[in-house]
Amino acid sequence: MDNEYAGKRQQMVHLLMQQGIRDPRVLDAFRKVPRHLFLDEALRPQAYDDHPLPIGEKQTISQPYMVALMTEALQLEGTEKVLEIGTGSGYQAAILAELAERVFTIERMPDLAKRARKTLDQLRYTNIVTRIGDGTEGWREESPFDAITVTAAAPDAPDPLLKQLEIGGRLVIPVGDEQLQELTLYVKDGEDRYHEEDYGGCRFVKLIGKYGWTT
Ligand code: SAM
Repeated sequence: MDNEYAGKRQQMVHLLMQQGIRDPRVLDAFRKVPRHLFLDEALRPQAYDDHPLPIGEKQTISQPYMVALMTEALQLEGTEKVLEIGTGSGYQAAILAELAERVFTIERMPDLAKRARKTLDQLRYTNIVTRIGDGTEGWREESPFDAITVTAAAPDAPDPLLKQLEIGGRLVIPVGDEQLQELTLYVKDGEDRYHEEDYGGCRFVKLIGKYGWTT
């Protein structure tokens, strides 16, 4: 069974390359992390297909291409401290943990956060710190971060997250209305100075919190 999943994982990576993902470290991380183990058993046969899947609580594990695109946009080299908002299944946190020194991840739904922690412990990820709470406020005690990824859709980039970025740091986030968003990269050029890059259209579940949607 594990061999079968390894073959499917290789096919998924091939598809990511065809879709334009180039960073060899990102592709290696996708070759390594067993995406099927972040899903309920019944969904595991679909784990390496390129679409989102339900993880309970009306939430989803994002499409592999979207996870790869967002991760590649952060340009991680291995020494970074990264913040993820929206732990969900824990899959993207595991990918980030393969590419950076330390990962801090926040999830607002306690049951999802607990399940993700269990999966990450089973896979022996010791460089991921999880927290239950409103990620739109960031994680002030651990800031600044070299990179931040928000895996839910926001009306705007939350101010605390921009503030908690290191100078030169990168924040990737889907910004738009409830139906459709633009995946947007903010690069912090100086204190209160940012430039934006557009990574194309996307559709995510809502970021709910003080600096996101209210419901
Ligand atoms: N990164 C996840 C993965 O790899 O499985 C997928 C995340 S899912 C698309 C978005 C997640 O963001 C949901 O689990 C949702 O509960 C969470 N979320 C929404 N608003 C949040 C907030 N303010 N703080 C933390 N998590 C939030």
